[in-house]
Amino acid sequence: MNLKILFWLLLPVQFIIAQGSIFDEIAGTINDLTKISLNILDISDTEENDIGTALAAELESEMKTGTTKKWDVKKIFNKVVKTVSRKNIKYSYKIVADDEVNAFAIAGGRVYINTGLLNFVKSEEELAFVIAHELAHIDKKHCINKIKLTYIAGKVNVTLAMLVDAMKSVYDIPFNKYDEFEADDFGVKMMQKAGYNKKGGIDFFKRLAVHFDESERDPINDFVASHPLSLERAKRIEKMK
Ligand SMILES: [Zn+2]
Repeated sequence: MNLKILFWLLLPVQFIIAQGSIFDEIAGTINDLTKISLNILDISDTEENDIGTALAAELESEMKTGTTKKWDVKKIFNKVVKTVSRKNIKYSYKIVADDEVNAFAIAGGRVYINTGLLNFVKSEEELAFVIAHELAHIDKKHCINKIKLTYIAGKVNVTLAMLVDAMKSVYDIPFNKYDEFEADDFGVKMMQKAGYNKKGGIDFFKRLAVHFDESERDPINDFVASHPLSLERAKRIEKMK
């Protein structure tokens, strides 16, 4: 038989085989996640890393990686990350190709910085503050607590798959005012320990207040959510030691 005809005759079989393996792979991943049961009230740093890895795989599939020639992000990140207190968390960062002036952090140590923010900041200190603020959200457990809160009602034992699913729906909910203030406070302490001047935080918020109309807040932007206002945050940092 002509090889070409054989190829076309067997095409449906080839398709089924190919599809089968993809389905097996997906089913396998789901099973692995479902098997991992977690005590929601007592998630260890290692478990948080696992949650972060699973969640990052989901989020990053929808992200476009960006680059910058303006800053040595790696150098600044490495200086600031030395000051975190939870040393077992696998901290890392990624640049996202997105024009919005924003950055965000997820449980398990990953910080995402938009190219829009890298273009907006005017000094290494400003960028160091943003990185420190995001790292503080993770280090102070704001990220993992946000996931926990969605499950706390009645459920103590959940699976990793359930948590990742919950996180996908809560990662774009802004942190509350107290978490923001705490991340600003610890962010400033961390950047200072790393050798940066807190003026970076003050400059950043003052210029942000001009860049964004404070009456038009973006609820899912970590720096311009409904509260607290940028100028209020700049003033708080001015008062810090
Ligand atoms: Zn924040």
